[in-house]
Amino acid sequence: MKAPTKRLYLTRLQRLENEFQRYPKEIAYLHATWLEKHKHRFVSAWINQHMHLENTSTNRVESHHAKLNKYLHTSIQNFVNSWHTIHNLLELQICDIKSSFEESLTRIPHRYRGYLFRVLIGFVSIYAMQKIEMEIGESDSVGPYPDLCHHVSQTTCGLPCAHMIAEYRQENTPIPLSPFIRFGASLIVTLLYLTS
Ligand SMILES: [Zn+2]
Repeated sequence: MKAPTKRLYLTRLQRLENEFQRYPKEIAYLHATWLEKHKHRFVSAWINQHMHLENTSTNRVESHHAKLNKYLHTSIQNFVNSWHTIHNLLELQICDIKSSFEESLTRIPHRYRGYLFRVLIGFVSIYAMQKIEMEIGESDSVGPYPDLCHHVSQTTCGLPCAHMIAEYRQENTPIPLSPFIRFGASLIVTLLYLTS
């Protein structure tokens, strides 16, 4: 599921088939029921070709649905009461989101004080900076070479990917806001933060 490229997916699938060759029926089932029809829905090599802001399952929707159900079941069931309950729940969530944004602007972890993050501070959420931090780690092995980079961060979240960060590091310049703007960043960074 986590294979970042189609080639790696095929290699891993081959390895799995070799390991379970004594179970041909199960392997056939896996192919016919899941992989042939649905691999593009859950294998990273396919889902990471689209912007999904890390929403690759229904977990978040299910979690919010469960929370709302819990609220509604503890109130008297009529329309007006239900409306007030939902309204209160949403107001609470907006409050949480606002305080998270405030925190993102005022409490900057020390490790983001370096030159790479200089331009981003105050404009990009801490959550987005954590994502960039992971790409910085990747940039050590990828270097400024697009061919060696999977561009996952850029494609799926609109954030700079490892090879772009390697270029900034090579030029000794901070990560600019322009890639964020080019990919509709204010919305993306907001969404990333809201859904984190
Ligand atoms: Zn890249």
